[in-house]
Amino acid sequence: MKKVVVLGGGVGGTIVANIVSRRLKKDANVTLVDKSGKHIYQPGFVYVAFGDEQIHNIIRDEGSLLNKDCKLIIKEATKIDPKDRKVVLDDGQSLDYDYLVIATGSRIVPEEVKGLKEGAHHFYDAEAAEKLRQALIAFAGGKVVVGVGGVPYKCPPAPAEAACQLDYYFKKRGIRDKVQIEFLSPLPRVFPLEAVNPFVTKIFEEKEVAYHTFFNVDYVDPEAKKVYSLEGESVDYDLLILVPPHRGAKVIEESGLGDRGGWIPTDKYTLQAKGFDDVYVVGDATDIPISKAGATAHYEAKIAANNIITQITGAGSLKHYDGKVRCFCDAGFKKGISLSFDYTHPPKPPSNLSLSAYLGKVILNKMYWLTIPSGRF
Ligand SMILES: Cc1cc2nc3c(=O)[nH]c(=O)nc-3n(C[C@H](O)[C@H](O)[C@H](O)COP(=O)(O)OP(=O)(O)OC[C@H]3O[C@@H](n4cnc5c(N)ncnc54)[C@H](O)[C@@H]3O)c2cc1C
Repeated sequence: MKKVVVLGGGVGGTIVANIVSRRLKKDANVTLVDKSGKHIYQPGFVYVAFGDEQIHNIIRDEGSLLNKDCKLIIKEATKIDPKDRKVVLDDGQSLDYDYLVIATGSRIVPEEVKGLKEGAHHFYDAEAAEKLRQALIAFAGGKVVVGVGGVPYKCPPAPAEAACQLDYYFKKRGIRDKVQIEFLSPLPRVFPLEAVNPFVTKIFEEKEVAYHTFFNVDYVDPEAKKVYSLEGESVDYDLLILVPPHRGAKVIEESGLGDRGGWIPTDKYTLQAKGFDDVYVVGDATDIPISKAGATAHYEAKIAANNIITQITGAGSLKHYDGKVRCFCDAGFKKGISLSFDYTHPPKPPSNLSLSAYLGKVILNKMYWLTIPSGRF
């Protein structure tokens, strides 16, 4: 029996663990290690912030999503030693492996921007999304500034989606005429995907969302209610929403496996950690210059699972990840956009916001638990 150890019970790790343990019942022991034992559907944070979802609906026990042949250990991995093929856990226990899958995602580091914790809201974890919901309820008028506090960050369209949701939220409350919305982008454009940027810029203009590009956040002054950029500019706010900077998991940094941001150098086609044929990396943890998104983790996980099975059994053939990503963005008013792209095909800009793209997002939000983690879809 080969030993397959998966680190991280988010989208990517859960899919790999389920596919490999289901397909290799007799050939592999699969163990998934997750530090919290909870699986979070993170796109739901946006809906929590705007009062359309509750936290308990977007979190499940990881054990309920794993098939019975996969062992779950609820502990934090503190050291990965790929030369000795060993992972050390927070209680000192160590796990040997034949194949390792690193799917430890990303972590937010708000403390890296001075004043961000005190002066800004965000919706990148459960507690912050709930606090933002309360702040929005209490907000009766003024200037809301929404932007990005550092790159890379997961779900690149999420801040623009939030700007559109703010417009929708305040219109529903009947106070849109009392609220100015301004969007800050570190890029020379409002939307990260260049091909879709003209379309999103037009939507912002229609929704009267002002925008400020090339604004790389330096620090926030909570007293003065101002956010400053590295470019030497400042913007006033009454309510500030800033996506915090992200880094790879601590265990990656502490094992010396990451680059400066804690992202693991990964072959963009085979998904193997560079220099280690028996270590696969999926999802946010990679350094692949592609969207850090659940959709990315989903497609990568299927390729990594296939290749581990092929390496163990010798049957089938190794596959390459082609950079496929598909995502839905909810622009409010029951309209949205759907984007598909890969390494060689940029996304095609839609001609209009559509009901079908909005429904795509709603269906995914509802069906996620029954479909994606199992790895069957
Ligand atoms: C507000 C928001 C909106 C989003 N919207 C979308 C969207 O619409 N579409 C989309 O595709 N994506 C979206 N995403 C991004 C998506 O949620 C992530 O990209 C995706 O979850 C990454 O999957 P992953 O498996 O790499 O990591 P995760 O799902 O984050 O899972 C990582 C797991 O690893 C565990 N872990 C970390 N370190 C250790 C350790 N040392 N030991 C053991 N366990 C560890 C964690 O506990 C966690 O369970 C959104 C994210 C946010 C925050």
